[in-house]
Amino acid sequence: MRRRDDLDDSDGPNDPGDPAFPRAAAAAETSLAGLDARVTRCAACPRLVAWREEKAHDDLPAYRGQRYWARPVPGFGPADAPLLIVGLAPAAHGANRTGRMFTGDRSGDVLFAALHALGLASRPDPVAADDGMTLRGVRMSSPVRCAPPANRPTPAERDTCRPWLARELRLLAPTLRTVVVLGAFGWQALMPALAEAGWALPRPRPAFGHGTRVTLGQRDGQARLDLFGCYHVSQRNVFTGRLTPLMLREVLEAAAEAAGILP
Ligand code: SF4
Repeated sequence: MRRRDDLDDSDGPNDPGDPAFPRAAAAAETSLAGLDARVTRCAACPRLVAWREEKAHDDLPAYRGQRYWARPVPGFGPADAPLLIVGLAPAAHGANRTGRMFTGDRSGDVLFAALHALGLASRPDPVAADDGMTLRGVRMSSPVRCAPPANRPTPAERDTCRPWLARELRLLAPTLRTVVVLGAFGWQALMPALAEAGWALPRPRPAFGHGTRVTLGQRDGQARLDLFGCYHVSQRNVFTGRLTPLMLREVLEAAAEAAGILP
């Protein structure tokens, strides 16, 4: 179900509920601030629109009385960031609740704590969108901007959402030097977005792995870009020890050094 204020007067690509909206709207944006504002109006995936709004009414005791964001979540971090962190999609009671990437769930707690330990986040404990958190040289984004059921977007939803990330990459390109990709879904979804944004991809496309590092060559005047694979900071990976705080910190540190934001 779409909200009344999501609707434009016109149909077609100007209608946030039209599948063509992400491509048309993202292409029209020339600033990251504009892109961040525009994506929050998107309603192109009916299943995800229904889910993000349904989860706002779960009435979980921990969040009782809180008003959920229940919209697409924009990127977070400075518009001239040399390092981008790419996840999967907002969590139903995390970013879908708070409206800020990786904020409001345990995955985000682990990630922000690691960034804070490296001096790249102003505080270790993300609480809410208005908690004063700032990032230094780092931006966060995801290939799907609405919370999906079971954290699993469909291939069609992933593809419909791609123009938002591709445009974000294009607008970040003047300063972007490294990308840390959390998990195989993000890795696979990022590749076509990078190609759309103007980078040349190796053939065959590199496979995801924790600790993988791939350098993309220049194309269309883009600077070279280093991709770093890292297991996702999901509760399961952290709980089972598949991803330890040290493993996460090592990848972030290597990427920050390569991006020139750590000595
Ligand atoms: S997942 Fe992306 S394309 Fe789909 S409704 Fe959300 S913001 Fe729009």
